[in-house]
Amino acid sequence: MKKKRRYRKSKHMHTKWFYKWMVPILVLFCVGGVLIASVIHRDPAIPTGGAAFVESSREPIVSESEFLEVSSKPEETGPPVIDESDYVEYNGPIEHIFFHPLVVYPELAFDGDYQAKGMDDYMTTNVEFQRILEELYKNDYVLIYPSMIADLKLPPEKKPVIISTDDINYYPYMRENGCNDKLVVGEDGHIASTAVNPKTQKEEIRTDAEVFPILYRFVQEHPDFSHHGAMAIVGLTGYDGILGYRTQKDSPNRAKEMEAVKPVIECLKKDGFVFASHSYAHATTSDKDAAFVYSDCQQWKDEVESLIGPTDLYFFPYGDYPKHGTDAFRTFIDFGFTHLSGVGINTYRKNYEGYWFDDRKNLDGLTFRRCLNQGRDYVNDNGKPSVFNQVWDMMDVDYVFDARRGDTPGQGDFS
Ligand SMILES: [Zn+2]
Repeated sequence: MKKKRRYRKSKHMHTKWFYKWMVPILVLFCVGGVLIASVIHRDPAIPTGGAAFVESSREPIVSESEFLEVSSKPEETGPPVIDESDYVEYNGPIEHIFFHPLVVYPELAFDGDYQAKGMDDYMTTNVEFQRILEELYKNDYVLIYPSMIADLKLPPEKKPVIISTDDINYYPYMRENGCNDKLVVGEDGHIASTAVNPKTQKEEIRTDAEVFPILYRFVQEHPDFSHHGAMAIVGLTGYDGILGYRTQKDSPNRAKEMEAVKPVIECLKKDGFVFASHSYAHATTSDKDAAFVYSDCQQWKDEVESLIGPTDLYFFPYGDYPKHGTDAFRTFIDFGFTHLSGVGINTYRKNYEGYWFDDRKNLDGLTFRRCLNQGRDYVNDNGKPSVFNQVWDMMDVDYVFDARRGDTPGQGDFS
Protein backbone atom coordinates (compact mmCIF):
# COMPACT_ATOMS: atom_id res chain seq x y z
CA MET A 1 0.00 0.00 0.00
CA LYS A 2 2.80 2.36 0.92
CA LYS A 3 4.31 1.89 -2.51
CA LYS A 4 1.06 2.68 -4.30
CA ARG A 5 0.61 5.95 -2.43
CA ARG A 6 4.06 7.02 -3.47
CA TYR A 7 3.22 6.59 -7.13
CA ARG A 8 0.10 8.66 -6.83
CA LYS A 9 1.35 11.67 -4.93
CA SER A 10 3.08 13.29 -7.86
CA LYS A 11 4.27 16.29 -5.84
CA HIS A 12 5.80 14.18 -3.11
CA MET A 13 9.59 14.33 -2.93
CA HIS A 14 9.91 10.56 -2.97
CA THR A 15 7.91 10.39 -6.14
CA LYS A 16 9.98 13.06 -7.83
CA TRP A 17 13.09 11.17 -6.85
CA PHE A 18 11.49 8.01 -8.15
CA TYR A 19 10.73 9.57 -11.51
CA LYS A 20 14.06 11.27 -11.88
CA TRP A 21 16.31 8.35 -10.95
CA MET A 22 14.52 5.10 -10.37
CA VAL A 23 12.33 5.11 -13.46
CA PRO A 24 15.22 5.62 -15.89
CA ILE A 25 17.28 3.03 -14.05
CA LEU A 26 14.37 0.62 -14.07
CA VAL A 27 13.76 1.27 -17.76
CA LEU A 28 17.35 0.40 -18.48
CA PHE A 29 17.69 -2.59 -16.22
CA CYS A 30 14.30 -4.23 -16.17
CA VAL A 31 13.05 -4.39 -19.78
CA GLY A 32 13.73 -7.83 -21.05
CA GLY A 33 14.88 -8.83 -17.59
CA VAL A 34 14.25 -12.44 -18.45
CA LEU A 35 16.94 -12.20 -21.07
CA ILE A 36 19.58 -10.90 -18.69
CA ALA A 37 19.93 -14.09 -16.73
CA SER A 38 20.50 -16.15 -19.83
CA VAL A 39 23.09 -13.70 -21.16
CA ILE A 40 24.98 -13.40 -17.90
CA HIS A 41 26.11 -17.00 -17.70
CA ARG A 42 27.32 -17.10 -21.25
CA ASP A 43 30.94 -16.46 -22.04
CA PRO A 44 30.80 -13.05 -23.71
CA ALA A 45 33.01 -13.98 -26.62
CA ILE A 46 31.14 -11.65 -28.90
CA PRO A 47 32.10 -11.32 -32.52
CA THR A 48 32.35 -7.65 -33.42
CA GLY A 49 30.42 -8.22 -36.60
CA GLY A 50 31.37 -7.08 -40.07
CA ALA A 51 29.76 -3.73 -39.45
CA ALA A 52 32.20 -0.95 -40.15
CA PHE A 53 31.67 2.55 -38.80
CA VAL A 54 29.27 4.38 -41.03
CA GLU A 55 29.40 8.13 -41.29
CA SER A 56 25.91 8.93 -40.14
CA SER A 57 25.20 12.36 -41.55
CA ARG A 58 23.40 12.08 -44.82
CA GLU A 59 21.10 14.27 -46.79
CA PRO A 60 17.34 13.84 -46.41
CA ILE A 61 15.98 11.68 -49.21
CA VAL A 62 13.07 13.97 -49.94
CA SER A 63 14.29 17.47 -50.64
CA GLU A 64 12.07 20.45 -49.96
CA SER A 65 11.74 21.24 -53.65
CA GLU A 66 10.58 17.72 -54.48
CA PHE A 67 8.02 17.86 -51.69
CA LEU A 68 6.62 21.21 -52.80
CA GLU A 69 6.44 20.12 -56.42
CA VAL A 70 4.37 17.04 -55.56
CA SER A 71 2.06 19.00 -53.26
CA SER A 72 1.32 21.66 -55.87
CA LYS A 73 -0.23 19.13 -58.27
CA PRO A 74 -3.68 18.34 -56.93
CA GLU A 75 -4.10 15.21 -59.06
CA GLU A 76 -1.06 13.67 -57.34
CA THR A 77 -1.86 14.52 -53.72
CA GLY A 78 -4.04 11.46 -53.01
CA PRO A 79 -2.59 8.08 -52.05
CA PRO A 80 -0.91 6.32 -54.97
CA VAL A 81 -3.22 3.94 -56.82
CA ILE A 82 -1.82 0.44 -56.43
CA ASP A 83 -3.17 -2.59 -58.27
CA GLU A 84 -3.95 -5.07 -55.49
CA SER A 85 -5.70 -7.69 -57.64
CA ASP A 86 -2.85 -10.18 -57.10
CA TYR A 87 -2.75 -9.71 -53.31
CA VAL A 88 -3.37 -12.84 -51.27
CA GLU A 89 -4.85 -13.39 -47.84
CA TYR A 90 -2.14 -13.52 -45.18
CA ASN A 91 -2.57 -15.95 -42.29
CA GLY A 92 1.03 -16.47 -41.13
CA PRO A 93 2.85 -15.02 -38.11
CA ILE A 94 2.92 -11.26 -37.64
CA GLU A 95 6.23 -9.92 -36.38
CA HIS A 96 6.29 -6.99 -33.98
CA ILE A 97 9.63 -5.35 -33.20
CA PHE A 98 10.32 -2.35 -30.98
CA PHE A 99 12.94 0.23 -30.15
CA HIS A 100 13.70 2.82 -27.52
CA PRO A 101 14.89 6.28 -28.61
CA LEU A 102 17.93 5.65 -30.81
CA VAL A 103 21.51 6.28 -29.75
CA VAL A 104 22.99 8.90 -32.06
CA TYR A 105 26.27 9.49 -30.25
CA PRO A 106 27.64 6.11 -29.12
CA GLU A 107 30.66 7.88 -27.60
CA LEU A 108 28.26 9.28 -24.98
CA ALA A 109 26.21 6.10 -24.58
CA PHE A 110 28.90 3.41 -24.43
CA ASP A 111 31.39 5.46 -22.42
CA GLY A 112 31.88 3.06 -19.54
CA ASP A 113 29.94 5.11 -16.98
CA TYR A 114 27.39 3.55 -14.62
CA GLN A 115 24.60 3.81 -17.21
CA ALA A 116 26.65 2.53 -20.17
CA LYS A 117 25.84 -1.16 -19.78
CA GLY A 118 22.11 -0.35 -19.65
CA MET A 119 22.45 1.83 -22.74
CA ASP A 120 24.11 -1.06 -24.57
CA ASP A 121 21.56 -3.60 -23.32
CA TYR A 122 18.35 -1.75 -24.14
CA MET A 123 19.17 0.75 -26.86
CA THR A 124 19.74 0.59 -30.61
CA THR A 125 21.92 2.98 -32.61
CA ASN A 126 20.65 5.00 -35.56
CA VAL A 127 23.07 3.10 -37.80
CA GLU A 128 21.61 -0.23 -36.63
CA PHE A 129 18.05 0.96 -37.21
CA GLN A 130 18.87 2.04 -40.76
CA ARG A 131 20.44 -1.39 -41.43
CA ILE A 132 17.44 -3.18 -39.91
CA LEU A 133 15.15 -1.40 -42.38
CA GLU A 134 17.39 -2.44 -45.26
CA GLU A 135 17.36 -6.05 -44.06
CA LEU A 136 13.58 -6.17 -43.53
CA TYR A 137 12.97 -4.74 -46.97
CA LYS A 138 15.43 -7.14 -48.58
CA ASN A 139 13.73 -10.07 -46.81
CA ASP A 140 10.23 -9.19 -48.11
CA TYR A 141 8.76 -7.62 -44.98
CA VAL A 142 6.00 -5.05 -45.32
CA LEU A 143 5.10 -2.55 -42.60
CA ILE A 144 1.58 -2.78 -41.22
CA TYR A 145 -0.37 -1.38 -38.27
CA PRO A 146 -2.20 -3.58 -35.72
CA SER A 147 -5.47 -2.15 -37.09
CA MET A 148 -4.75 -3.91 -40.42
CA ILE A 149 -4.51 -7.47 -39.06
CA ALA A 150 -8.10 -8.48 -39.77
CA ASP A 151 -8.51 -9.67 -43.39
CA LEU A 152 -4.92 -8.76 -44.20
CA LYS A 153 -4.11 -9.13 -47.88
CA LEU A 154 -0.52 -8.69 -49.06
CA PRO A 155 1.43 -9.22 -52.26
CA PRO A 156 2.40 -12.92 -52.56
CA GLU A 157 5.67 -13.77 -50.74
CA LYS A 158 5.43 -10.66 -48.53
CA LYS A 159 5.37 -10.87 -44.71
CA PRO A 160 3.99 -8.27 -42.30
CA VAL A 161 5.97 -6.49 -39.58
CA ILE A 162 4.86 -3.93 -37.01
CA ILE A 163 7.46 -1.43 -35.80
CA SER A 164 6.85 0.31 -32.50
CA THR A 165 8.78 2.47 -30.05
CA ASP A 166 8.70 3.07 -26.29
CA ASP A 167 9.57 6.07 -24.16
CA ILE A 168 9.69 8.67 -26.95
CA ASN A 169 9.83 11.22 -24.15
CA TYR A 170 13.58 11.91 -24.10
CA TYR A 171 14.10 11.62 -20.36
CA PRO A 172 17.14 13.50 -19.01
CA TYR A 173 19.27 10.33 -18.78
CA MET A 174 18.68 9.63 -22.48
CA ARG A 175 19.77 13.14 -23.47
CA GLU A 176 22.90 12.76 -21.37
CA ASN A 177 23.72 9.41 -22.91
CA GLY A 178 23.81 10.06 -26.64
CA CYS A 179 20.11 10.09 -27.60
CA ASN A 180 18.28 12.96 -29.26
CA ASP A 181 16.85 15.91 -27.30
CA LYS A 182 13.47 16.06 -29.01
CA LEU A 183 11.50 15.62 -32.22
CA VAL A 184 10.95 18.71 -34.38
CA VAL A 185 9.46 19.64 -37.74
CA GLY A 186 12.35 19.49 -40.22
CA GLU A 187 13.21 22.05 -42.87
CA ASP A 188 11.35 20.00 -45.48
CA GLY A 189 8.18 20.00 -43.36
CA HIS A 190 8.64 16.36 -42.30
CA ILE A 191 9.61 14.86 -38.97
CA ALA A 192 13.18 15.37 -37.75
CA SER A 193 15.10 15.32 -34.46
CA THR A 194 17.56 17.59 -32.69
CA ALA A 195 20.55 16.92 -30.47
CA VAL A 196 23.68 18.76 -29.47
CA ASN A 197 26.65 17.35 -31.35
CA PRO A 198 29.28 16.60 -28.68
CA LYS A 199 32.10 17.42 -31.10
CA THR A 200 30.89 20.90 -32.05
CA GLN A 201 28.63 21.58 -29.02
CA LYS A 202 26.10 22.87 -31.55
CA GLU A 203 22.48 21.78 -31.86
CA GLU A 204 21.80 19.96 -35.12
CA ILE A 205 18.50 19.16 -36.84
CA ARG A 206 18.85 15.71 -38.33
CA THR A 207 16.80 13.36 -40.47
CA ASP A 208 19.06 10.33 -39.97
CA ALA A 209 19.09 10.11 -36.19
CA GLU A 210 15.71 8.81 -34.98
CA VAL A 211 13.26 6.05 -35.92
CA PHE A 212 10.58 8.35 -37.39
CA PRO A 213 12.66 10.56 -39.73
CA ILE A 214 14.70 7.55 -40.88
CA LEU A 215 11.61 5.43 -41.53
CA TYR A 216 9.64 8.22 -43.21
CA ARG A 217 12.45 8.83 -45.68
CA PHE A 218 13.04 5.10 -46.21
CA VAL A 219 9.40 4.68 -47.22
CA GLN A 220 9.66 7.63 -49.63
CA GLU A 221 12.46 5.71 -51.32
CA HIS A 222 10.71 2.33 -51.05
CA PRO A 223 6.93 2.96 -51.07
CA ASP A 224 6.18 -0.78 -51.32
CA PHE A 225 7.73 -1.27 -47.84
CA SER A 226 4.60 0.34 -46.31
CA HIS A 227 1.18 -1.34 -46.56
CA HIS A 228 -1.49 1.33 -47.02
CA GLY A 229 0.81 4.00 -45.61
CA ALA A 230 1.68 2.27 -42.31
CA MET A 231 4.67 3.73 -40.46
CA ALA A 232 5.87 3.15 -36.86
CA ILE A 233 3.99 3.50 -33.58
CA VAL A 234 5.10 6.25 -31.18
CA GLY A 235 4.89 4.89 -27.60
CA LEU A 236 4.60 7.59 -24.93
CA THR A 237 4.62 7.78 -21.14
CA GLY A 238 3.43 10.99 -19.50
CA TYR A 239 5.39 11.76 -16.31
CA ASP A 240 8.12 13.70 -18.12
CA GLY A 241 6.11 15.20 -20.98
CA ILE A 242 6.16 13.83 -24.54
CA LEU A 243 8.47 13.87 -27.57
CA GLY A 244 11.06 15.93 -25.66
CA TYR A 245 8.64 18.65 -24.54
CA ARG A 246 7.94 18.96 -20.80
CA THR A 247 4.15 19.06 -21.03
CA GLN A 248 3.45 17.18 -17.77
CA LYS A 249 1.23 18.80 -15.17
CA ASP A 250 4.06 19.88 -12.82
CA SER A 251 6.26 21.27 -15.61
CA PRO A 252 7.41 24.84 -14.84
CA ASN A 253 6.78 26.03 -18.43
CA ARG A 254 3.92 23.73 -19.34
CA ALA A 255 1.84 26.15 -21.45
CA LYS A 256 4.81 27.06 -23.65
CA GLU A 257 5.84 23.43 -24.10
CA MET A 258 2.28 22.43 -25.01
CA GLU A 259 2.23 25.04 -27.75
CA ALA A 260 5.65 23.93 -28.98
CA VAL A 261 4.76 20.24 -29.23
CA LYS A 262 1.54 20.72 -31.22
CA PRO A 263 3.14 21.19 -34.67
CA VAL A 264 5.37 18.18 -33.98
CA ILE A 265 2.34 16.00 -33.21
CA GLU A 266 0.62 17.24 -36.37
CA CYS A 267 3.76 16.54 -38.39
CA LEU A 268 4.01 12.97 -37.08
CA LYS A 269 0.35 12.37 -37.95
CA LYS A 270 0.72 13.90 -41.41
CA ASP A 271 3.77 11.70 -42.06
CA GLY A 272 1.62 8.66 -41.21
CA PHE A 273 2.64 7.79 -37.63
CA VAL A 274 0.23 6.73 -34.88
CA PHE A 275 0.54 6.80 -31.09
CA ALA A 276 0.37 4.31 -28.23
CA SER A 277 0.19 4.59 -24.47
CA HIS A 278 3.22 3.25 -22.61
CA SER A 279 1.53 4.13 -19.26
CA TYR A 280 1.83 7.44 -17.42
CA ALA A 281 4.36 6.56 -14.71
CA HIS A 282 6.22 3.62 -16.30
CA ALA A 283 5.39 1.35 -13.37
CA THR A 284 5.08 -2.42 -13.26
CA THR A 285 1.43 -3.53 -13.10
CA SER A 286 1.57 -7.28 -12.35
CA ASP A 287 1.69 -6.25 -8.68
CA LYS A 288 -0.97 -3.51 -8.84
CA ASP A 289 -4.75 -3.43 -8.42
CA ALA A 290 -7.46 -1.99 -10.66
CA ALA A 291 -7.46 1.31 -8.73
CA PHE A 292 -3.79 1.88 -9.55
CA VAL A 293 -4.32 1.03 -13.23
CA TYR A 294 -7.34 3.34 -13.37
CA SER A 295 -5.47 6.26 -11.87
CA ASP A 296 -2.44 5.78 -14.15
CA CYS A 297 -4.60 5.45 -17.30
CA GLN A 298 -6.62 8.51 -16.29
CA GLN A 299 -3.48 10.58 -15.80
CA TRP A 300 -2.24 9.50 -19.24
CA LYS A 301 -5.61 10.39 -20.73
CA ASP A 302 -5.59 13.83 -19.09
CA GLU A 303 -2.04 14.82 -19.95
CA VAL A 304 -1.12 12.85 -23.09
CA GLU A 305 -4.29 11.80 -24.91
CA SER A 306 -5.48 15.39 -24.57
CA LEU A 307 -2.55 16.34 -26.84
CA ILE A 308 -2.27 13.43 -29.28
CA GLY A 309 -5.85 12.14 -29.46
CA PRO A 310 -7.27 8.70 -28.60
CA THR A 311 -5.49 5.41 -29.28
CA ASP A 312 -6.35 1.74 -28.77
CA LEU A 313 -2.69 0.69 -28.48
CA TYR A 314 -0.96 -0.01 -25.15
CA PHE A 315 2.63 -1.16 -24.55
CA PHE A 316 3.22 -2.53 -21.03
CA PRO A 317 6.33 -1.07 -19.36
CA TYR A 318 8.94 -3.82 -18.85
CA GLY A 319 6.50 -6.14 -20.65
CA ASP A 320 4.93 -6.56 -17.20
CA TYR A 321 1.15 -6.78 -16.83
CA PRO A 322 -1.62 -8.07 -14.53
CA LYS A 323 -3.04 -11.56 -15.16
CA HIS A 324 -5.54 -11.76 -18.02
CA GLY A 325 -9.07 -11.77 -16.68
CA THR A 326 -8.33 -9.77 -13.51
CA ASP A 327 -10.04 -6.47 -12.73
CA ALA A 328 -6.69 -4.75 -13.12
CA PHE A 329 -6.26 -6.12 -16.67
CA ARG A 330 -9.88 -5.35 -17.51
CA THR A 331 -9.31 -1.71 -16.59
CA PHE A 332 -7.01 -1.25 -19.60
CA ILE A 333 -9.75 -2.58 -21.90
CA ASP A 334 -12.30 -0.28 -20.23
CA PHE A 335 -10.06 2.65 -21.13
CA GLY A 336 -10.27 1.60 -24.79
CA PHE A 337 -6.90 -0.13 -25.13
CA THR A 338 -7.74 -3.18 -27.26
CA HIS A 339 -4.30 -3.94 -28.72
CA LEU A 340 -1.99 -4.66 -25.80
CA SER A 341 1.64 -5.71 -26.03
CA GLY A 342 4.19 -7.40 -23.80
CA VAL A 343 7.86 -8.09 -24.62
CA GLY A 344 9.31 -11.33 -25.94
CA ILE A 345 11.56 -12.67 -28.70
CA ASN A 346 9.18 -15.50 -29.56
CA THR A 347 6.43 -14.37 -31.95
CA TYR A 348 3.17 -14.45 -29.99
CA ARG A 349 -0.25 -13.07 -30.82
CA LYS A 350 -3.64 -14.04 -29.47
CA ASN A 351 -7.16 -12.70 -29.89
CA TYR A 352 -8.79 -12.65 -26.46
CA GLU A 353 -12.41 -11.70 -25.94
CA GLY A 354 -12.55 -8.02 -26.75
CA TYR A 355 -8.83 -7.43 -27.28
CA TRP A 356 -5.61 -8.54 -28.96
CA PHE A 357 -2.43 -9.38 -27.09
CA ASP A 358 1.01 -9.81 -28.65
CA ASP A 359 4.68 -9.82 -27.70
CA ARG A 360 7.22 -7.48 -29.21
CA LYS A 361 10.83 -8.40 -30.01
CA ASN A 362 13.31 -6.02 -28.39
CA LEU A 363 15.96 -5.40 -31.06
CA ASP A 364 18.68 -3.99 -28.81
CA GLY A 365 22.20 -4.76 -27.65
CA LEU A 366 21.02 -7.58 -25.43
CA THR A 367 19.31 -9.34 -28.33
CA PHE A 368 22.03 -8.63 -30.91
CA ARG A 369 24.80 -9.93 -28.64
CA ARG A 370 22.80 -13.03 -27.78
CA CYS A 371 22.18 -13.68 -31.49
CA LEU A 372 25.86 -13.23 -32.33
CA ASN A 373 26.90 -15.44 -29.41
CA GLN A 374 24.67 -18.26 -30.59
CA GLY A 375 25.06 -17.78 -34.32
CA ARG A 376 22.45 -18.75 -36.89
CA ASP A 377 20.35 -21.89 -36.44
CA TYR A 378 21.39 -22.43 -32.82
CA VAL A 379 19.93 -25.49 -31.08
CA ASN A 380 19.42 -25.36 -27.31
CA ASP A 381 20.60 -28.11 -24.95
CA ASN A 382 17.04 -29.47 -24.92
CA GLY A 383 17.23 -30.02 -28.68
CA LYS A 384 14.86 -27.20 -29.54
CA PRO A 385 15.85 -24.36 -31.87
CA SER A 386 16.75 -21.09 -30.13
CA VAL A 387 14.07 -18.38 -30.25
CA PHE A 388 16.84 -16.02 -31.33
CA ASN A 389 16.85 -17.83 -34.68
CA GLN A 390 13.66 -15.84 -35.28
CA VAL A 391 15.71 -12.66 -35.26
CA TRP A 392 18.28 -14.16 -37.66
CA ASP A 393 15.37 -15.14 -39.93
CA MET A 394 14.43 -11.46 -40.17
CA MET A 395 17.90 -9.96 -40.58
CA ASP A 396 21.63 -10.59 -40.76
CA VAL A 397 22.56 -9.58 -37.21
CA ASP A 398 26.25 -9.58 -38.13
CA TYR A 399 25.54 -6.78 -40.59
CA VAL A 400 23.17 -4.90 -38.27
CA PHE A 401 25.42 -4.87 -35.16
CA ASP A 402 27.14 -1.49 -34.71
CA ALA A 403 30.85 -2.24 -34.11
CA ARG A 404 31.14 0.95 -32.06
CA ARG A 405 29.43 -0.96 -29.22
CA GLY A 406 32.72 -2.82 -28.74
CA ASP A 407 33.18 -6.35 -27.41
CA THR A 408 32.12 -5.57 -23.82
CA PRO A 409 28.65 -4.06 -23.24
CA GLY A 410 29.07 -0.40 -22.24
CA GLN A 411 32.74 -0.24 -23.27
CA GLY A 412 32.49 1.28 -26.74
CA ASP A 413 35.15 0.87 -29.42
CA PHE A 414 35.77 4.14 -31.25
CA SER A 415 39.12 3.30 -32.83
ZN1 LIG B 1 9.56 1.80 -21.39
